[in-house]
Amino acid sequence: MATQDTADILVGILDRVKVLDPVNSRRWFDDLTVLHFDGGILEVGCPDGNAAQFLHDNCLTIFTQAAQNVTGHLVAVKFSVSDSTSAQPMQTGTQSTVKLHPDYTFESFVVGPCNRLAHASCVAVSHSPGNTYNPLFLYGSVGLGKTHLLHALCHGVMKHSANAQIRFLSCEEFVNRFISAIEHGQLSEFQSQFRTVNVLVIDDVQFLSEREQSQEEFFHTFNAIYNNHGQIVLTADCAPGKIPSLEERLISRFKWGLVARVDAPSYETRIAIVQKKARLRGLDVSEEVSEYVAGRVKANIRELEGALTILYATAQASGEPITLELARSALGQQEAESRRSISITEIINAVTRYYDVRLADLQSKKRSQSITLPRQVCMYLARNLTKHSLEEIGGHLGGRDHSTVLHAYGKIDGLRRTDPQTRTELDELMGSIRQD
Ligand code: ADP
Ligand code: MG
Repeated sequence: MATQDTADILVGILDRVKVLDPVNSRRWFDDLTVLHFDGGILEVGCPDGNAAQFLHDNCLTIFTQAAQNVTGHLVAVKFSVSDSTSAQPMQTGTQSTVKLHPDYTFESFVVGPCNRLAHASCVAVSHSPGNTYNPLFLYGSVGLGKTHLLHALCHGVMKHSANAQIRFLSCEEFVNRFISAIEHGQLSEFQSQFRTVNVLVIDDVQFLSEREQSQEEFFHTFNAIYNNHGQIVLTADCAPGKIPSLEERLISRFKWGLVARVDAPSYETRIAIVQKKARLRGLDVSEEVSEYVAGRVKANIRELEGALTILYATAQASGEPITLELARSALGQQEAESRRSISITEIINAVTRYYDVRLADLQSKKRSQSITLPRQVCMYLARNLTKHSLEEIGGHLGGRDHSTVLHAYGKIDGLRRTDPQTRTELDELMGSIRQD
């Protein structure tokens, strides 16, 4: 594809994702380029590894959706570093190399029983790095705010001790930089980059699991900083002793200071988070809608945010305000998807029963309305309720290609919004599929 086209595609995608995610767009979407668009993979170039990692963790879904909408094809999005030289960590100089998310602050963090200790210890460390809990080790499952707290802690350190040299990176990046330093014969530069900082913040240290040489390097990095009275802050998805194949000497060091667990938030905390996130995005979300969302999504705050994004996008598309009814219909489908895995066969069975048509007709080339509609409904439901690709869905329905499935999806989705009869039919069908 010509460069011009790919540039246009990126512009189209950015237009969409900026609307869907105004918060992240302010910080992360500006310096992106298209590196390649080939074989269904759109490789988006990011200014550095932090940005690529952040976008991968937080924005992959909306980029993928936007890319599919803009191109009309199945597209997988991949975030890479645009320029290999900028991926090199070997800048010298004393300035901190830390890129912080502007919205991940203590102010935007909702404190509840689930994260009180983690939050308080981060606040304490940010006021006086190296002097309170050292190391500070936070752990808990994915999506519970560990990375948010690390950003907030770094913001705090920068505010209170402007000269502190901070290094904040994911453990994966630490390992990759270490490997690249070995390859390029720059080990001593690598070591001086890390061992002399005042504050070292490493996210997701479970990544050290089974990586013996990286563990060894990390051990020496840890000792050097610690002996220098520098602060070390770490996170993981489990307690230090539960990280598989982690050297005993690292486990014991990780427990020297404070180990704080982050738990899943209670219902009340989830409501408060929904309200705070909505305010941050400038969304008008009533108490009853907040309660509804908080009741749906339980274990992962990133999913709470995802639910808000869906509400926003649905409200935008329909021009309606975010009412409880809209929330129910927009999130109900999501919930169905996550509750259990539904097979295409179950969907086809339900649809053939409901419309009294035969599978052979659905798979045939017949284009009469009495066959086309059920066929399109199958495609719509399969796309909503299963994780199958458009190609796979088309394959079950007489070998139709992905653009046919996408077209069917758009058509039924449009009818669902505008035609009460279709909406009722879809509701009844979904109800019967879930009961099966
Ligand atoms: P983790 O690193 O534990 O996987 P993150 O820090 O990436 O989780 O959090 C996922 C999302 O949830 C982020 O957007 C973050 O802002 C949000 N989040 C998590 N906990 C809270 C909280 N207590 N208050 C506000 N937002 C939160
Ligand atoms: Mg994280």
